[in-house]
Amino acid sequence: MYKKNAWEGYNKTALKQVEALSKRYVSFLNNGKTERECVAEAVKLAEAAGFRDLDEVIAKGEKLKAGDRVYRVWMKKDIMLFIIGKEPMSKGMNILGAHIDSPRIDVKQNPLYEDEGLAYLDTHYYGGIKKYQWVTQPLSLHGVICKKDGTVVTVAIGEKDDDPVFCISDLLIHLSADLMSKPAKDVIEGDALNLIVGGMPLKDTESNAVKANVLKILADTYGVEEEDFISAELEIVPAGKARDLGFDRSMILGYGHDDRVCAFPSMAALLDWKGVPEATLCAVLTDKEEIGSVGATGMAATYFENTVAELYNVVHGYDALGVMRTLQNSRMLSSDVSAGYDPNFAGVFEKKNAAILGQGICFNKFTGSRGKSGSNDANAEYMAQVRSIMDDASVAWQTAELGKVDVGGGGTIAYICAKYGMSVIDSGIAVLSMHAPYEIISKADLYEGYKCYVAFLKGAK
Ligand code: MN
Ligand code: MN
Repeated sequence: MYKKNAWEGYNKTALKQVEALSKRYVSFLNNGKTERECVAEAVKLAEAAGFRDLDEVIAKGEKLKAGDRVYRVWMKKDIMLFIIGKEPMSKGMNILGAHIDSPRIDVKQNPLYEDEGLAYLDTHYYGGIKKYQWVTQPLSLHGVICKKDGTVVTVAIGEKDDDPVFCISDLLIHLSADLMSKPAKDVIEGDALNLIVGGMPLKDTESNAVKANVLKILADTYGVEEEDFISAELEIVPAGKARDLGFDRSMILGYGHDDRVCAFPSMAALLDWKGVPEATLCAVLTDKEEIGSVGATGMAATYFENTVAELYNVVHGYDALGVMRTLQNSRMLSSDVSAGYDPNFAGVFEKKNAAILGQGICFNKFTGSRGKSGSNDANAEYMAQVRSIMDDASVAWQTAELGKVDVGGGGTIAYICAKYGMSVIDSGIAVLSMHAPYEIISKADLYEGYKCYVAFLKGAK
C-alpha cells in the first residue's frame, strides 16, 4: 500500500535538485556537529535569507507585519524561525519541529588523568548508544570552556586535515577470549569510554608528566587551566566529514542524521520560502531530545511558548488568550528519524509497517513502546488532512512504526507540543544504523522530506 520507490519518479531536473539539496545538507552536517554549532550555522543561513533576530526587534520596540521573517535563539542551543502570515496568529501556525542534539560522548567535569604514560579524558555518554561502536574510531572534540572571568573559549579539534584526532582503545582480539563471550552491552562499559588525549611527558616533571604536558598545551593554546573543565561542555563526536555512499551515490553516510536530516530540510523550507504566507510559519530546532527533552533547552521547557508570546506581542500586541489560541490552533509536523528497514536484521521489523529507504518521508501515527506508551498518537482526522496535502503535492511518503510491537520503541517531541491541543503528527526520514557513529540515509528521502515540509507549510489549515 502506498509505497513507491521515489527515485523512479525523478527526471533530470529532479535529480539535479536532489543533488543540490544533498550538498546543502552535507555542508550543514559538517559545520554542525553539536547543537551549539547547528544553531550558529542556522543563524548564518537565516540572516543570509533575510531573517532578523527577534530579540533585536523587541529591543528596538518595533512591530512586525505579514511577510516579515525573524529568528530567535535560546541559550545558544535552540533556534526558532518564523515568517509572519496574513491571517491572525490566533488561527494557528504551521510548525515544523525537529531536534539538533545527537547521541555522543560528553567529557566529565573532572576528566583529566594519567595512567602509565597515557593521558585520558573521562567521559559520560549522552543518549542511547551501543558503546562498543565508539571505540577505535577517530573522534573529535567540540564545545565550549567557560572561564570564571566570563570568557567563553570555543573548541573544535579533529576536523581539519592537519588537526590531531582522539580515540578510545579496544582490547586486542588475541586477549579477548573472555570479553567476546560477554553480552554486547557489557563489552565496553560506560566508565571504560576513556578518551586518549596524550602520551608525551613534560620535561623535568616528577609525577603525572603526561597530564602536565596536556595541561600546558591547553594553557598555551586556549588559556585554560584544569579547573576550567568544571564549567565546560565538551562533546566527543566522530571526526571527519559526511560522505556519499554507494556506487550510485544515492545515500549519505554521516554523523548526526538523527535528527539533523529532519532539522535541516525543516529549516530550509522556511529559508527558501518566497512571498507572504497565509498562516504564520515556524520551524523549531530543539535540544535535549536524546535525553528526554529535559532542561531549559529541551522541548519540555517553556522557551517555545515564551517565544510565541513575544512574537504575538510584536505582531498583534500582547493578549494571553491570543497566545494560547495560537498554540492550540496550530498544525505541526514533529519530525524525527524513522527506523529504516534493515534486511540484515529483518526479524525486528514488521515489513508492511516499516520505513523503507528511498520510499519517501515517513509518517508515524504513533511512536512509543509497550502499547504506545509515551507516544503522541495523532488524530485520524489530522492524518487524513496530511495525506491529502502530500498527495496533492506529489510527495513520496510512507507510514511506519518503530519496529515490531514489543521489540523496543522510542519517543519524540510530538507529545510535548500536543499538550497545547495543537494537531501534531510524527514524521521523519528513515535511517539505517540509528545512533551509531555513522548513520545512513537516502538522498531521495531527504528530498521528499523537503518537498513534504514545503507542501505542509503551504497547505495545512
Ligand atoms: Mn531523534
Ligand atoms: Mn535518537
